[in-house]
This record gives sequence, C-alpha cells and structure tokens, in this order.
Amino acid sequence: MKSFMAFPICSLIYIFILSIIYFYKPRIKSIENNIYKYIIITNIIGLIFEILCYVAVDMVDKYYFISMFILKGYVVYIFAWSLIFNIYVFMTTLSKKKKINVDVYYEKLQVISYILCAFFAAIMFCLPIYIYNDGTLTYTYGPGINILLILCGVIISIWIYKCIRNFKNLREKKYIPIIACIIMLSLVFVIQSSNRAILIATTGHSLIIFLMYFTIENPDVKLINQLELAKDQAEKANNAKTDFLSNMSHEIRTPLNAIVGFSQCIENADNLEEAKEDARDIVTASQNLLEIVNGILDISKIEADKMEIVNTEYNLREILDNLTKLILPRIGEKDIELKTNFALDLPDVLYGDSGKVKQIITNVLTNAAKYTEKGEINFNVSCVNNKNQCRLVITIKDTGRGIKTEQIDKLFTKFQRLDEDKNTTTEGTGLGLAITKRLVEMMGGKIVVQSEYGEGSTFTIYLTQEIRNGLYKKEELIENEILKFDNKKVLLVDDNKLNIKVGIKKLKEYNLDITSVENGFECINKIENNNKYDLILMDIMMPKISGVETLKRLKQIEDFNTPVIALTADAIQGRADKYLEVGFSGYLSKPIEDNELRKVLSKFISNKKEEKVEIVEEVKQEKNNQLDIDYLKENDIDVDSSIELLGDIEMYNDTLKDFLTECETRIPKMKEHLDNEDAANYAICMHSMKSDSKYLGFKKLAELSLNQELEGKNNNISYIQEHNQELMDEVNKIISIVKKYLGDE
Ligand code: ADP
Repeated sequence: MKSFMAFPICSLIYIFILSIIYFYKPRIKSIENNIYKYIIITNIIGLIFEILCYVAVDMVDKYYFISMFILKGYVVYIFAWSLIFNIYVFMTTLSKKKKINVDVYYEKLQVISYILCAFFAAIMFCLPIYIYNDGTLTYTYGPGINILLILCGVIISIWIYKCIRNFKNLREKKYIPIIACIIMLSLVFVIQSSNRAILIATTGHSLIIFLMYFTIENPDVKLINQLELAKDQAEKANNAKTDFLSNMSHEIRTPLNAIVGFSQCIENADNLEEAKEDARDIVTASQNLLEIVNGILDISKIEADKMEIVNTEYNLREILDNLTKLILPRIGEKDIELKTNFALDLPDVLYGDSGKVKQIITNVLTNAAKYTEKGEINFNVSCVNNKNQCRLVITIKDTGRGIKTEQIDKLFTKFQRLDEDKNTTTEGTGLGLAITKRLVEMMGGKIVVQSEYGEGSTFTIYLTQEIRNGLYKKEELIENEILKFDNKKVLLVDDNKLNIKVGIKKLKEYNLDITSVENGFECINKIENNNKYDLILMDIMMPKISGVETLKRLKQIEDFNTPVIALTADAIQGRADKYLEVGFSGYLSKPIEDNELRKVLSKFISNKKEEKVEIVEEVKQEKNNQLDIDYLKENDIDVDSSIELLGDIEMYNDTLKDFLTECETRIPKMKEHLDNEDAANYAICMHSMKSDSKYLGFKKLAELSLNQELEGKNNNISYIQEHNQELMDEVNKIISIVKKYLGDE
C-alpha cells in the first residue's frame, strides 16, 4: 500500500517545480490562464490530501475524525478539481459566434461551481465512508464514494458532450490537447472506479496539468498563440486595406479617366456644342469623384469618432422639395415615376442636423434611382408630433432589382456591393449605406429595410427631431440674389494656376476687382507695399510658405485688418475649424461651392443692402439697356444662341472685349504665317478664330475660318492666299461692328 505513495509524492515534486516555473514566468492575463492556475493549486492540495490518505487509513482507529476529515476532504478535492476543469472545458468550447459576454459567463460558471462544491462538501460530511482493510488490500467505499463516482461520471460525460458539440471551435483554437486530457481523465475514472485500492486520480490530474503545460498553457505557447492572432489580425487588416485600395483605385480612376479623356476631347473639339457636351461629362465625372472622396472622408471621420452632429433650425419641407428636384437627373431617361407624399403636419421649423438628414435621404433615394430600371419610386415622409418632438418616418420604396434575403445582412457593411455582376454599369463604392446607417444611429434613429429580390425594396428611416416654433430664417435666400461688389478688391493667393483661373472666373461674376498672386511672399509684398484689399482668399497648402504662415506674417504688418479666408481641400470638420483658431476669418472648401462663396462674400464684403441687386432679371435688363443687342442682330450676329452658350449678356460682352484684344495679336500673326507660307501655323490661328466666332455668333466668319483651317491643315497654301482677303474683310467688318456696339469707336 505504502509503495503507491510514491505516485503522489513524485507528482507533488514535479507539480511543485512546474508551478514555480509557471508562476515565475510572465504570463498573459486571460481567463484560461486564471483557471489553469486554480487547476494547479487544487491539484497540489489534492496531492497532499492523497499522501495523507495513506496515513489516515492506518490511524483511523486511533484518530477517527481526523482520518475521516482527510478521506472526505480528498473526495471533495476530486469533485472540486473536476468542476474547475469543467469551467475550463466550458470556456474553451465557447462559440465566438454567439454574442456572449465572456466575463459574465465566466463569473456565472464560477458561482455555480462554488455552490455545487459547497453543496457536495456538505453532503459528503453527512454521508458515511467506510474503509476496507484486510492487511493486504485497503480501499474506501460507501454512499459518499458512490455519489462521487456517479457525479464524476456525469461531469466527464458533460465534457465529452461539450467537446463533440463544439468540435469546430476546439479545432479552430487548436485545443485538441483538451480531448487528450478528457480521454485520459476518462481512463483514470474507469481504472479508479474498478480498482479502488490504487489512488491514481490525483496523479492523473497532475499528468493532465503537465500535458496542458506542454501544449496549450505554457506561457510561451500562449505568447506564440497571441502573436499568431495578432499576425492574423494584421494580415486581415492588410487585406482589407488592399481590397480597399484596389476598390478605390478602380472607383477613382473611372471618373478620373473620364475627366482626362473629355478634357483632351475639348482641346481637339471642332465645334462648341461638342465641347459643351464634353464639359458636361467632365462635370458629371467630377461630381462622382467628389462623391467618392467625400464618402471615404465621411467613413474615416465616423470611424475616428470625429463626425459631429451640428444642430440648427431648418425647414424640412424645403429640404424634401430640393431633394426631389435633385434626384430627377439621377433617374434621367429611365421609365420611372417618382411619387412623393409629404405629410401636411410636418412642422415648419425643426431643430437638428439638417446636413445629415439631407445626406441620409439622398443616399437612400439615390440608391432607389440607381438600382431601379422601371416602375415607381415612392418617397413618403410622415411624422408623429408629440409636444416638442417630431418623430419622422421617411419611407423610400422602389420597384427595382431588390436584395436577396441572405445578402441583407451585408447591406450596411462598408465597401460591400451586392449583386456585383449586375453592378458593372452602376457606379458606386459600397459606402453609401454604411455611412447612412451610422449617421442615422448617431442621430438616435434607425433604418429598416424590407426587400424582395426582383420585386423592389423599401427603406424606412426613423428619426426624431426637435420642433421649434420660431420662424425659420431662409438662409438659402441668398441663392436668389445677385450680388454686386463693384470696386471691391479681392486678392487671390494660390500656387495652382488652374485654381486661380477657376477662382477668378467665379469671382468675376460679382464684379470684383481681382488680383492674383502665386505664393505667400508675393501676397505679403502686396500688403507691405500698401495695396489695400477688401478680402483675401488664401490657399493653405502652398510651397515655400504655407497659408497659415503667410497669415501670421500678415498679422504682424501694422494696420493690417483685411479678412483672410482659408481655401482648403481639408474637408474634415475639426481641421477646418482649426483655421479659425489660427486667425482666418472663415474658410472655403475646395472645390469652391457657389453658394458658400456667396455667403463668404456677402458676409465679409457686402454689408450694405443697396449693393445687392435682388432680381436677376433686373440686372439683365439694366445691362441690355446699356448696349444695343439689336444692332448686332441686324448685322447677322447670332446673339441669342451665344448668350445661351455663355450664360448671360454680361459674359457675352466680356468675351467680345477679349475677342478684340485677341485680334490685335492674332491678325499680325496670321499675316506673318501667310507671308511665310506656313500653312500649319496659319491653320492653328484659324482654329482659334473659328472657335471664337462660334462662341460669339459670327456665323459667316466661323464658316470662312473653318474652311481656311481645313485647307491649312491640308497645306493648300494657294486656297488660303486666294480666300484670305475675303476672310480679312469679314474680320474687319466684325471688329468694327463689335467696337461700335461696345462704344469703343
Ligand atoms: P453603392 O450604391 O455605392 O454600391 P451602398 O452602400 O449605397 O453602395 O449600397 C450597397 C449595395 O446595396 C449596392 O451595391 C446595391 O447592390 C445594394 N442596394 C442598395 N440600395 C438598393 C436598392 N434600393 N435596391 C437594390 N439594391 C440596393
């Protein structure tokens, strides 16, 4: 009997050494580590009890109660150890898919185990245990032992059941050693229950602890696992980034290609109509590109927790009407009827983030237009008004392609486009709905989708906004006003020539006196040389000296108090606000939006009411009265179609002036090329003459110069020489008409 003591003694020594190594090594904090720690400590206690058991059976006659305490304590140990191992099995077979709070689950298991253990200990100390000892064979028996064996059998069955049911999880986690442990424990159980004289349960437990240590619980192995996990995550993030980049590069390249391609077409265009069509395509492609870039910025902003809710008073009905108008071009030629129904009881003034409300509805409405080929789009908005709360129910229902039930889950995932094979001709990034859902949630609302594949989809958005009683101040009124800032001086600072060109063009509409410079130093020079401006528009990203640095230096100049507006492509809200902090009076995002520019100009330049001319027609009339268009018409100049092309009479007049200036250099050049018999360069001059004539409605001159251009390209010098006089007569005639019209003569 005593020789069997060698098992627990050896086990105790080994486990002791192992625990020193284990507890000495730095470990990762995890639930499994924590359980393993208890498994080791309980086993050490169990081994001590087991060694004592060998002594206890011999002294039972003398010290009955102590012996019984030891024997029953050992039985309780076996139960307690099994329960702890039970927690380990439960935790490691936990399915990741079920959204269980692991910490709470672990705590619950612990509490249940404590209760069961206490209950079992109580039973054990009430039930008798008997000792059989015939001198050669010694073992314990009785109801206490029978209950232990039954309970251990149940626990092992639970382990086996758990492992079989969750085999996939075990395999994923490479926890096959657990199965080895369970098999070993089952064997120990079978041997122990059939041969009670040998106490091998505790030694069996020690062996399992060793097995676990060398396979799954060694801190080094754990560390490697953690590293592998981190590597997996990094790889996944990297793959997501690669997917994102390839997705984006495709999405960004498509409109960029169109922009580059159509721009080249404009360069080579033969007539104005063709050029205008190409320009329209460029605008569409640029808008797509802007949409994509904005989408990326929005999603990054949301994910970085930088998206803010900016509440203001607004008129929802006005937004809805505008959105309805805006969606029509998206529907285009498609056979779709757009039906709207906005509840009559929509409050006049709501308080909330109107920009985000607009964005949410636009995204869903645009999708309805994009993914529907024919039928109807129903755009309904109803509301439930309660005290000062308005619960909006926005429903957008289409008869489009619909969404497969199994794909609805993916709908709001970023960069996820469904039905890819059908999407080849529909542009999109898979960001719209991801942004929409997050925006709706940020505003405390929700979005619900119902869809039948092939039949259509219904998106319902629930949003709650505050009702305000005050009268809504229609900020957009400014759109309907024509602003005039005669003699007001603006300095435009931008290193990009194209940006300057676009800027000047936009600013010209306001009759401003514009000066442009290409860097911060030139701007500082201008101010230092006592040039006065009413407003400075300054690019932020400039080589040599940045916009911010330029502003700092300007502020050091005595008496400098001109408002400076930052021109920034940095659309992130927090960043843009930063410019105000450093001293800019305002900011404009690039590309500059007309309405934003108007707001800035009227805020910083025109405070005087009389400078605003309220109605466009009046302005036109005023201009028309100044110059006699009929005189041009009488001379067979197609003024009407030119004005249509150029936008307004003002622009037309400006272009006429440019034409006169241009002729001053163009005519001597033409003569020079003719004298040199340089047909190719003559053709280039004729190309410009033809384009200008088409813009300005000089029909005959356009025709003559086209012929000259074509013949020039064919190197037909004799034709050019022959018809040059005819062309020059027409040119001179036009010049004198235009001069007379403009009052230059
Ligand atoms: P995008 O339209 O840019 O691809 P979204 O996030 O707006 O991205 O939409 C994700 C996907 O959901 C789309 O690619 C499309 O397959 C599907 N989808 C969205 N709205 C509808 C709709 N009204 N009808 C059918 N499919 C839709």
